Amino acid sequence: MKLKTLEISGFKSFADKTTIEFMPGMTGIVGPNGSGKSNIIEAIRWVMGEQRAKDLRGTKMSDVIFGGTHIRHGLNRAEVSMTFDNDDQYLNTLFSEVTITRKLYRSGESVYQINGVDSRLRDVQDLFTDTGLGKESFSIISQGRVESIFNAKPEERRAIIEEVAGVHKYKQNKDKAQRELEQTNDNLSRVGDIIYEIEQRLDGLAQQSAQATDYLSQKERYELLDQSRLALLIQQLNDKQVTTERALADQQTQVKSAKQAADDLETRLADQRQEQADLSQQQEQAQQQVVTLIQKKNNSLAHKI
Ligand code: ATP
Repeated sequence: MKLKTLEISGFKSFADKTTIEFMPGMTGIVGPNGSGKSNIIEAIRWVMGEQRAKDLRGTKMSDVIFGGTHIRHGLNRAEVSMTFDNDDQYLNTLFSEVTITRKLYRSGESVYQINGVDSRLRDVQDLFTDTGLGKESFSIISQGRVESIFNAKPEERRAIIEEVAGVHKYKQNKDKAQRELEQTNDNLSRVGDIIYEIEQRLDGLAQQSAQATDYLSQKERYELLDQSRLALLIQQLNDKQVTTERALADQQTQVKSAKQAADDLETRLADQRQEQADLSQQQEQAQQQVVTLIQKKNNSLAHKI
């Protein structure tokens, strides 16, 4: 992996777009005091995701945008792009050339890009994890930091060296595995406690279990008996229903016969009434004939006399 180019535009003293090509054999950038050498290294730190304005010698992040001079107005945007040759895939991506870009506007809008595609700060940081190019790495030492590194506590110095050597990731994995191991041990000991507690309650639980089993079998027997009782009851009710239906049918037949008999009697009664009426009429006619005969007889007697 090689740093190929650095493009700076509107960043600190670089008002105009400036491209620095890092040719093979290039070992340093020299220039008089205040000419902008530190601004170059700060541009590199910034494009790689530096978040602390103080570490870029500012008080707020927008201080990195070209602020103007007595002959030139300030700008509204700072932009830095850094391009790596990644043929050896040292950076964690399949691209053989990687360009990372960061832009910042005075409005506060901020953009990160990887090969021209908008990305998150996290993606840019992940790209450099364990490459020795992380923002805390030993490969970028800004002014005044040499002394602080030498004065750092041994553990801090060790962390820097580990980051540069690329073992930081493995150490992090080891620490994570150790933490997980400890947690597993804690869990195991908790499980042991729980097993002990359960063992203490085992006798009581066995008794409760026997009671529960007994209860369940009795409940099952009760349910069977209850089902038989209900089946018997249903059978009895069915029988009763059949008997009642039969009695009802008999009674309906009897009612029908009685009705028929009543109808027959009515008919006979009507016939007899009619017969009686006829006889009365005949009787009346006979009486009339007798009266007529008596009158005739009386009249003939009267003539004779
Ligand atoms: P030294 O060797 O003295 O540290 P240097 O070459 O590293 O100097 P820098 O410190 O990088 O130079 O650059 C300082 C110059 O950058 C100053 O002239 C400063 O005014 C200018 N500068 C810094 N920030 C801005 C900004 N936002 N806008 C315009 N100019 C800026």
